[in-house]
Amino acid sequence: KRNVLIIGAGGVAHVVAHKCAQNNALLGDIHIASRTLAKCHAIIESVHDKGSLHMPGLLQAHQLDAMDIEATKFLIRATRCQIVINVGSPFVNMSVLQACIETGAAYMDTAIHEDPAKVCETPPWYANYEWKRLDACKRAGVTAILGIGFDPGVVNAYGRYAMDTYFDQVDSIDIIDVNAGSHGRYFATNFDPETNFREFTSTVWSWENGAWKANAMFERKKEWDLPVTGKSTTYLTGHDELHSMSRNLGVPDIRFWMGFGEHYINVFTVLKNLGLLSEHPVRTARGQEIVPLEVVKAVLPDPASLAPGYTGKTCIGDLVKGTKDGKPQEVLIYNICDHEEAYKEVGSQAISYTAGVPAVAAAMLIADGTWDMGGMVNVEELDPAPLISLMNRMGLVTRARHGTEDYVVEPQMAIA
Ligand code: NDP
Repeated sequence: KRNVLIIGAGGVAHVVAHKCAQNNALLGDIHIASRTLAKCHAIIESVHDKGSLHMPGLLQAHQLDAMDIEATKFLIRATRCQIVINVGSPFVNMSVLQACIETGAAYMDTAIHEDPAKVCETPPWYANYEWKRLDACKRAGVTAILGIGFDPGVVNAYGRYAMDTYFDQVDSIDIIDVNAGSHGRYFATNFDPETNFREFTSTVWSWENGAWKANAMFERKKEWDLPVTGKSTTYLTGHDELHSMSRNLGVPDIRFWMGFGEHYINVFTVLKNLGLLSEHPVRTARGQEIVPLEVVKAVLPDPASLAPGYTGKTCIGDLVKGTKDGKPQEVLIYNICDHEEAYKEVGSQAISYTAGVPAVAAAMLIADGTWDMGGMVNVEELDPAPLISLMNRMGLVTRARHGTEDYVVEPQMAIA
């Protein structure tokens, strides 16, 4: 039994716990540790309510401050967990990774590490924190898979898979993320508002002509005709995966485009221009110090509360262009996820679902040895075939639009 420790008890952890439970024959005991114990208990209750456990097994909640490396090491040892799925806030990544290096447990996360004090880092972002531990992971023989949600994560694997399967040479990868769902609220973020807004308040970095290019948010706009979601307006956005894919794939153009409606942009722009997205405290007339962003966070809907009424679908994928046998070639490799179906299955919306399922698929590939590399990797460095195959059976089906054809991608391979 490998046993899994899930760090964090937010939207993504909820999905991770359900999916681990559905696969506990391979994964073993499931432990959920977060700052707020009640949230861990609520997830466990939901797993029991939905009957997600594949076979009788242990599901246990723990209170943990994951910034505390010693406490995290203690918990990993006490629970005999060999796999840690870190889906806590991105501020805890480096402490959890350190705890894994010192205990020998495999590590994975779904977002790049962030320092709360720094809004914009220099690219490639992974070099600022994670890659400084490459040697330490290798020495300890610790498998660490960075950024294994959907984006970053599956889109990295899609880029690699497309390169290996459809092309002799790739000129560009455009990662496109469109949520055509509706939560019916005036304004809300799909995950933690602080993480969400930080993504859009800093410089937008993209990889063009083999170099970093800086833009401002909402400066470059592009419309795509996508499967299911149809004509979708997106904006060039900075994103984790560009920082490793640019290094590992040797492709001259790699960009990330995220879909935004006009209403979202209007509200976001007003909040930003008024200074309400600032992390710097201000003093009120009564002498109280408050952080504007914390106030905004407090009045916005809790992202988890959006799930019950969420309708519509997400489309996330890579549009890859290049040549094969001297001819121009273009392939869109993508997934469609339905908010309502995700809610029916595990009680979550599609954004959390698409992030949580790949992390559990990766845990299973570590548990059966397929991806247990004994070192630190970004997802595009791993064989994408087993991930795609496994996810096809776990609720996230990969499709390819290739010329006039549109079909399910089923890589030829066997999984233990
Ligand atoms: P939430 O904000 O819903 O949950 C974060 C959890 O981390 C909370 O339960 C929080 O505890 C816990 N936490 C924060 N600090 C600590 C700490 N010091 N010790 C222990 N626990 C702590 O986030 P999400 O579930 O939406 O997202 C989780 C991660 O997944 C984020 O890093 C996010 O960026 C990433 N993500 C990745 C995606 C992808 O496709 N790659 C997509 C969506 C998200 P508390 O409840 O007390 O606040």
